[in-house]
Amino acid sequence: MELHSYINSKCPVGVPHSHCSGKPTNRTGCVLCAPYNIYMGKCDNYFRTHRVFLEEEKKYILNRCLDFYPIYIPPEIREIIIGFADTIVHILLDIRLDGAGIDHMMSCHICSHKFISWLDGHSCSDHVLPRIRDYTVDDLNIDNMTI
Ligand SMILES: [Zn+2]
Ligand SMILES: [Zn+2]
Ligand SMILES: [Zn+2]
Repeated sequence: MELHSYINSKCPVGVPHSHCSGKPTNRTGCVLCAPYNIYMGKCDNYFRTHRVFLEEEKKYILNRCLDFYPIYIPPEIREIIIGFADTIVHILLDIRLDGAGIDHMMSCHICSHKFISWLDGHSCSDHVLPRIRDYTVDDLNIDNMTI
């Protein structure tokens, strides 16, 4: 699937939008007509996790402490207790203009608005894309309101 069709098949979360072509401009260069692996930055919601295990020496000390506990703690339970001491670290990943990056930016409250307005300024105006909608009086339906 072409990149612009892929983007148009999705809805940006939390962004009032219409799937339409943009206002005509004499813009040159379009990130969708000539796609390349564009770096879009990082986001706190786009990461992989990495588990840092407790060092052997610290495991040994923890085991020695458990030896002094008044109740016998079987090895299986000790392993669970020691497992709590492992650290989970989040490693932020680069967001790129590809399938995984687009999936993220369309479904992330931090990225969606920024991505949609960036896309509007970096693509041909004739592509049908989710574009931020300017609210007009008609949208608000003021005529039909009763006071
Ligand atoms: Zn939509
Ligand atoms: Zn284009
Ligand atoms: Zn994000």
